[in-house]
Amino acid sequence: MTERLRRQLLVRSSRPVDLDQWPSDETFGWNKDAAKGELNKVIGEMAFIQRRLMAEATQSLLVVLQGRDASGKDGLVRHVMTGLNPAGVRVVSFKVPAGVEKDHDYLWRCHKAVPARGQVGVWNRSHYEDILVPRVKGLVAEDVWRRRYRHVRDFEQLLADEGTRVLKFYLNVSHEVQRQRLQKRIDNPESSWKHDPSDLSDREIWPLYEEAYADVLRETSRPHAPWYVVPADNKWVRDLVVARIMLDELVDMNPQLPLAEKTLKGTTVV
Ligand code: AMP
Ligand code: MG
Repeated sequence: MTERLRRQLLVRSSRPVDLDQWPSDETFGWNKDAAKGELNKVIGEMAFIQRRLMAEATQSLLVVLQGRDASGKDGLVRHVMTGLNPAGVRVVSFKVPAGVEKDHDYLWRCHKAVPARGQVGVWNRSHYEDILVPRVKGLVAEDVWRRRYRHVRDFEQLLADEGTRVLKFYLNVSHEVQRQRLQKRIDNPESSWKHDPSDLSDREIWPLYEEAYADVLRETSRPHAPWYVVPADNKWVRDLVVARIMLDELVDMNPQLPLAEKTLKGTTVV
């Protein structure tokens, strides 16, 4: 079942990406109440495998989240990672590069944030900001952001070769749902602190981001680090889609408990 979902949402490098054609409000015929129960079940299964991942301490999983403001990256982290052992999860939120980050190449801060063996890493924004933002804001020449596709593909290949599985999710929210969420955020005193004026200026150049995202997804979706376009107008759909694909990947990683029984056989604790 998840295999079909993955096929449906996978970005293929052989085809142009038109994000308008990817429904942001797809529900796959799922029922909202049942989906909540299903999400809990999926998280429980992930937690079981996570124990083995930590014990094995050989492989790691990196989940990259990208999407517009208010597409639900923070909410997804809260809903899907709650239930995993926090000792084995590292969430990193990438902001505008500052301080020492600006003194290095753009991948420097990212490479340091890659999950250690046995860990699950979640990136709330990522190295992809270093292609998208310079492009839409015209901060660097085209050849500079364009060659980063190659850097990023090679970087992710290195991670995959060395034992880190990479899954990338683009949370696809519609223009109208983003408007509603940004307005709600501004109007609610409990969430207005989250509002950033750049959310509105970025919204004004929505089509530029759309074009930039379409190219990024196609240029960097590869078997070793696939992109999935997640329908994100409904939070419950968004959460279940990501959780199911993560679980599917963890099952495929099949981490094993270390072989302790041979050496422990006959040992008695007194
Ligand atoms: P938020 O995720 O809403 O807290 O906002 C973080 C902000 O930092 C967003 O506006 C991102 O576009 C911006 N950002 C993150 N990484 C970079 C980067 N490498 N270059 C430029 N802007 C970035
Ligand atoms: Mg923001």
